[in-house]
Amino acid sequence: MEVRIRDIQLQINQKEEQAELVKVINGIEMYKDMDFGGFMVIDGKSYRHCSYNIEMDILSVKPVELNEDPEELEYESDFKCPYCGNVDYDAWELEDEGETYCGACGSELEYERVVTIDYNVRPKKCAPVTRV
Ligand SMILES: [Zn+2]
Repeated sequence: MEVRIRDIQLQINQKEEQAELVKVINGIEMYKDMDFGGFMVIDGKSYRHCSYNIEMDILSVKPVELNEDPEELEYESDFKCPYCGNVDYDAWELEDEGETYCGACGSELEYERVVTIDYNVRPKKCAPVTRV
């Protein structure tokens, strides 16, 4: 199996074999030794699976900062995957709380929507002031 950096343009033109090579991996067969989806760590660098071309035996990947044992992300303004850092801009479509999968890496996530209330206060009229 060849692991290559995902290049959308080359994929569209069906020239994935020209994409930047990360590594040729012998001894690991897709759907036999591993399943599609998730991460690969190659020579200490992390990548997430993007697509797999079964005819060419090319796994297209994207470099990511993998955190295999992340802390909970609290009060973030973005819905960010704690494992791969991907931001889901469609998270507003989710229920207020529940479980979901990261659309990028496929990790399982549990979340709750936190609604905060802010106040705008404008001065209108000052109370009487007595100076002595
Ligand atoms: Zn993720």
